[in-house]
Amino acid sequence: GLAERLQGTMQKIRGKGKVSESDVKEMMREVRLALLEADVNFKVVKEFVKKVSERSVGQEVMKSLTPGQQVIKVVKEELTELMGGEESRIGTSKRPPTVIMMVGLQGAGKTTTTGKLANLLRKKYNRKPLLVAADVYRPAAIKQLETLGKQLDMPVFSLGDQVSPVEIAKQAIQKAKDDHLDYVLIDTAGRLHIDETLMDELKQIKELSSPEEIFLVVDSMTGQDAVNVAESFNEQLGITGVVLTKLDGDTRGGAALSIRAVTGKPIKFVGMGEKLDALELFHPERMASRILGMGDVLTLIEKAQTNVDEAKAKELEQKMRTMSFTFDDFLDQLGQVRSMGPLDEILKMLPGANKMKGLSNVQVDEKQIGRVEAIIRSMTPAEKQQPEIINAGRRKRIARGSGTSIQEVNRLLKQFEDMKKMMKQMSAMQQKGKKKGGFP
Ligand code: GDP
Ligand code: MG
Repeated sequence: GLAERLQGTMQKIRGKGKVSESDVKEMMREVRLALLEADVNFKVVKEFVKKVSERSVGQEVMKSLTPGQQVIKVVKEELTELMGGEESRIGTSKRPPTVIMMVGLQGAGKTTTTGKLANLLRKKYNRKPLLVAADVYRPAAIKQLETLGKQLDMPVFSLGDQVSPVEIAKQAIQKAKDDHLDYVLIDTAGRLHIDETLMDELKQIKELSSPEEIFLVVDSMTGQDAVNVAESFNEQLGITGVVLTKLDGDTRGGAALSIRAVTGKPIKFVGMGEKLDALELFHPERMASRILGMGDVLTLIEKAQTNVDEAKAKELEQKMRTMSFTFDDFLDQLGQVRSMGPLDEILKMLPGANKMKGLSNVQVDEKQIGRVEAIIRSMTPAEKQQPEIINAGRRKRIARGSGTSIQEVNRLLKQFEDMKKMMKQMSAMQQKGKKKGGFP
């Protein structure tokens, strides 16, 4: 995959004191191949490599004390840029309700994403959405949205499958006004292929509802096809943003890299699973970090903020910044992580997790987490605060006390050190590129 490939290349120059022109050349060849393999649009790759090469061979890198890191930084910045630079936001209409149209091909994830978006709007932003069942061609689609509405305990507007989608949209907006709901999410029909009938209908709904956003939902697993679909919907309908679904799967990531470059429209959200809380704001910078294997501590923090304890998460972020993160915090984190959702998803976001071979196929062993907790609990308060004092004798004692082995204790201490290092890098980068985004 892209991540592994780039990581291998990065690894080679990471430790280097000086990077020569031929180093950069070799690296760029790898980057180029990796991107093409990941199904990134050919023109996009060419442009990307050209930009990175220019900056890497130039003075910016050669003058730097650690050119290896500098090249990685350049690659990361350019990846971020390619995916859209600054993180994007969702629009709010000046005259409520704000209408959002969900469009896309069949099976892309429109209906699911409509539910997820409604959930996010309420949970995180305190909004009151109305779900609108405007896919009248598949009776199951109406039922599906109604089920989601029930799960969320949210209103779903439907007029069955005998009324035109345009009429449904019209009445739904009136209903939202009457009931003082501030968002109207229209789940439209999809086809297997883009055709005129579909586009005409979508254009009519657009005409009538003046949507603030038209979100194109695309399946990231379809790779380059997703990019073509995006291009075509954008040309014919004019979209305002893209939701990239099924990023939790074994996808090659090429779509994420090319969509913005090809359509000029931002990816706004990513779908990370089938559940209703598996929708995340798209952060190009974090995505670039994830691709580069730096893990995604920031997404983790964000998850903690919405799902767990906001004050605690803030404290944690602060600790990462000041590097006062200890084993006590780590233990605390493990407890919180357990309540955040499926462990394997969470683990994938941890720094360095990409490097763990075949993590996506690994069943995360809850028992393993229990052992880690046992090891930490066997440490003295001083050891938890200052792990560097844990010498051979202490390691032995901790292993015995926790019913584990010295190897396991060593491994945990090593992982903790690595994690701290990563956090330091992440927070340094985060400090640099910090710009708080408002919503809506
Ligand atoms: P629609 O035809 O565009 O409305 O697509 P649906 O919302 O019915 O979704 C099609 C299938 O994809 C369903 O089985 C969903 O559960 C699944 N799905 C949607 N989004 C995601 C995602 O982000 N991750 C995963 N793993 N599955 C998803
Ligand atoms: Mg649907």
